[in-house]
Amino acid sequence: MKGKRYILIAAAVVLITGFILTFAYNMNNQVEKSGGFIIPKTTFSDGTYDLTSRIKDKVEPIINEFSAYASRSDLESIAGDDFHIIIYRLNSQAYEVYFNDTYIGTVGDMENGRSHTYNSPNSFAVSKSLISDYNKITIRTYGIYMTGLETNSIGVTDEETARKINGILHLFSSGFTMTGIGAIVFGILISLLTYMRSDRKNKALVYLSLAVAFLGIYSLEYLNLPYLSFPYILFKKIIICSLYACIFFFGMAFREYYNKWHLVGVSSTIFIIVLLAAIFTGTLITFKYIYDITNFGIVVSLVVWFIHSLFADDNSEERYVFAASSLMLMILSFSDILQMVIIGGVISTSIINHVLIFIFILVMLMNVELHRRNVRISNESSQRSLFYRQSITDQLTGVYNKNHMLKILEDEIPPLSIAMLDLDKFKEINDRYGHQCGDHVLEHVAAKMKDEFRDTDIIGRYGGDEFMVILIGCSERNAFDIMNRFRMHLEMDKIEYDGNEIKVTTSVGISYIREKAEVKKLIKNADEALYRAKDSGRNRVSI
Ligand code: GH3
Ligand code: MG
Repeated sequence: MKGKRYILIAAAVVLITGFILTFAYNMNNQVEKSGGFIIPKTTFSDGTYDLTSRIKDKVEPIINEFSAYASRSDLESIAGDDFHIIIYRLNSQAYEVYFNDTYIGTVGDMENGRSHTYNSPNSFAVSKSLISDYNKITIRTYGIYMTGLETNSIGVTDEETARKINGILHLFSSGFTMTGIGAIVFGILISLLTYMRSDRKNKALVYLSLAVAFLGIYSLEYLNLPYLSFPYILFKKIIICSLYACIFFFGMAFREYYNKWHLVGVSSTIFIIVLLAAIFTGTLITFKYIYDITNFGIVVSLVVWFIHSLFADDNSEERYVFAASSLMLMILSFSDILQMVIIGGVISTSIINHVLIFIFILVMLMNVELHRRNVRISNESSQRSLFYRQSITDQLTGVYNKNHMLKILEDEIPPLSIAMLDLDKFKEINDRYGHQCGDHVLEHVAAKMKDEFRDTDIIGRYGGDEFMVILIGCSERNAFDIMNRFRMHLEMDKIEYDGNEIKVTTSVGISYIREKAEVKKLIKNADEALYRAKDSGRNRVSI
């Protein structure tokens, strides 16, 4: 079916766009190309730990201080009066940078940790005048549950390279995430409108809108938020719960279509676990341990949904939407790992690929919904027009019936002529060859009329063997000529039926009006003319 192919093409476009907008960028290469150098995270130390990413111990202090050393020659070989230290994806709420114990700069809120800076790249300019023989770079982190660098190490480079790396990372993290949030708001509005306007209230659209709304909240994780008006622990709990709420409502949308509760088994369980954990855990450290485990549930849900929609025994287009989207989400879940293996360095800088997939689902479901509605409406209206056509035509001959002819006469504007035709001695045909033969003759006469008269002439069957023709804008004289010609042609016909050659003639009465007059009178005149034609020997036209 065509629709399914469109869905698969759209899915492919979304996935490819998503991958292009997701960023796998190896900042280390850029730094080294510029003549700068990388200080590996493992060379930083606070006396106990290095800067490898980890969940903190419960007894550890909130502020950690990590130091590493650089040689004079390495620092001096960097072009310009300053060198720049680039830090990206450092697990903490805020941090400060010192060089040789001189304060260089801060990111976020070192007082209360009310900031979210993890996904924002930062670079710190240090004057070369501070360089000595023994150069210490110190990072003081404010972290309540995690610490360390996620994927990259720390880069030291010149100003231009630092600006370039910062710019690119900002565009891919904050820039595209903001775009994604815009798409989310737009998507929700449109799908709610579709829901309200559709007559079959499709609750799946509401669940999906909720899923997308929670994805929008989760997207804040990818922004640089230098100020939070409430404690970080609350922020993080809201963010993580939103992710699970998104997955939960996505599952509910699935359930709405397939009506199988097992489709929300895993997603609702992990959602409840995370909600309870958010309520009852006092520290982010415990909370983090819990959601690290429930994360597996997300992948399990995706696999369940994908398999279900792949093998579901309905042939609806929705099935293809769900199969394509759960497959795309699965691919994305594994893409972080893929990127690490293939490219290394920074992974999934942006949430936009997930947003695109959810918007894809919304748009595709709305499309299916609207398409179905259009098909139904056009079916209904063609049904209606079929009924209407049946109500105005004569079953046997296919020309208009008496009622409709009378209605046309009421509506038409004179001048016009009408001709009443009555077949001559038709009863004899019936008696001799049978009723069915009579029917065949009636069909023949009607077909011949349709064939001979102009498209503007209106033909109808008035009763048994009686026909009426309305000749609009036609004078009496013209009507006479037309009908007389028809009469002569009919007379010459040999109508074949069942091996017999049947001949039939008709008598015709004509009446004419110049101005609007009573229909009854017009018909009465034509009838009288017809009677005269019959009376004076049949097979003739009278006025
Ligand atoms: P006349 O020349 O005076 O018109 O003679 P006639 O035999 O044609 O008589 P009349 O017009 O009064 O009769 C029409 C006949 O047409 C009567 C009826 O048996 C027959 N008839 C009416 N409707 C149908 C029909 O649908 N099919 C067939 N086969 N015959 C019909
Ligand atoms: Mg007759």
